[in-house]
Amino acid sequence: MPKTARAVRSAPERLHLAADVLVLGGGPSAAWAAVAAAENGATVVLADKGYLGTSGATAPSNTGTWCVPPGDNRHAVVERRWQRTGELADQRWMLRCVDTAYRNLLQLSEWGYPFPSEDDGRLYIANLRGPDYMRFMRRRVLLAGVTVLDHHPALELLSDGDAIVGAAGVGRQVERDWRVDARAVVLATGGCAFRERILGSTGLTGDGYLMAAEAGASLSGMEFTGKYTLAPHGSSLNKGLPFRWASFHREDGSPILGPTGEPLRNGIGDREEEVARALIEGPLYARLDQAEPALQGWLRQGQPNCFVPYDRAGIDPFNDLFRITLRAEGTVRGTGGIDIVSDDCATGVPGLYVAGDAASREIMTGAVSGGGAVNSSWALASGWWAGKGASTHARRRGGKAFRSEVLPLGQAGLRPAASPRAHVS
Ligand SMILES: Cc1cc2nc3c(=O)[nH]c(=O)nc-3n(C[C@H](O)[C@H](O)[C@H](O)COP(=O)(O)OP(=O)(O)OC[C@H]3O[C@@H](n4cnc5c(N)ncnc54)[C@H](O)[C@@H]3O)c2cc1C
Repeated sequence: MPKTARAVRSAPERLHLAADVLVLGGGPSAAWAAVAAAENGATVVLADKGYLGTSGATAPSNTGTWCVPPGDNRHAVVERRWQRTGELADQRWMLRCVDTAYRNLLQLSEWGYPFPSEDDGRLYIANLRGPDYMRFMRRRVLLAGVTVLDHHPALELLSDGDAIVGAAGVGRQVERDWRVDARAVVLATGGCAFRERILGSTGLTGDGYLMAAEAGASLSGMEFTGKYTLAPHGSSLNKGLPFRWASFHREDGSPILGPTGEPLRNGIGDREEEVARALIEGPLYARLDQAEPALQGWLRQGQPNCFVPYDRAGIDPFNDLFRITLRAEGTVRGTGGIDIVSDDCATGVPGLYVAGDAASREIMTGAVSGGGAVNSSWALASGWWAGKGASTHARRRGGKAFRSEVLPLGQAGLRPAASPRAHVS
């Protein structure tokens, strides 16, 4: 029987809980952190700004993982990827990440997550369908005995002067304040794509960065946020893959040319640059006419959500020209975030851990985007490490009673004036 969090005081206008570990966030990194901490014997509360299972960047998307099976070949695979990072990443972290992510993908299969099968009957575990993956993770989190607070955004961390000892926020649907006393906190609040409204990112406003900075943690690589992805004009659908098979045209119908002078027939990867340059000059249109009929069926089946905006607008994207734009993805597919100082994803502020897109991923991808595979595996692995690290820290502090008076650390958003509240109780 898993141990659960304890109510300190509960009133209609105020919820006050105590637990070993508090996880902030409701995406994959938060879910894995919560399960890992509970498995390590901790009582755990997870507070999400949205609803665990549908919030965050993964839930409405398909995420390919960086899936590298055990064996000597891992070193060569990591080495190749490392070269693409301008040799700025750290191969030791990359190897740790692929190993832990692979183990957790197998764990998902053992738990009964319905991975599809290859033609030869082997399970295909390299891709996670966002909606059912996150619905599945919600069930695992609840089975682990974690107390889940949906629609309870955290607004600030709490300190006892030496270490982080919890967080406080508001319950949006129940209209009450909340406070959770915890011996360790994991920030898994995702990246920041402020006001861009890309898939799943409406709530990703960088709250974790602010809370970490207010607690004294460092941010790193925040200049590496210039990641943009193609989307149909007027839609939030920043799924780049279908543009792998697109041609691009100006308003007068003239084609956009690639580096060899031939019409451009692929708009992702390095080719995004040519599309971006043409977009600066004026409106741009695309057609997914490089996809053979069999591929069209595969794209529709594999990425059904990609086609919703076209269907709604009555556009056949394989035959009709449609206007496109670029969407800024900030640190959701960029690399900056909260700096990590140890293998268990500690931040350097005692009691504060970080996972997923909230963390800097320079050690994994240098200055280039981790989208397309690395970020998803990073969420699987860093969530696991942070959950273990936080619960181990909590056990070490186990003898220390929670104080009723703690120092609330919120400044910029909550108390911008020169008169901070001294204490919350
Ligand atoms: C369209 C799209 C496609 C993608 N495809 C891929 C891919 O194929 N491969 C790949 O590797 N990566 C991909 N990514 C990136 C991947 O989705 C992210 O790296 C991953 O979701 C990160 O997980 P996370 O748990 O750290 O953050 P998220 O999944 O973004 O979750 C963050 C969570 O924090 C919560 N939160 C925010 N603020 C607060 C607060 N103040 N209090 C409490 N909770 C808060 C949010 O509600 C949310 O639940 C894609 C991203 C997008 C947008």
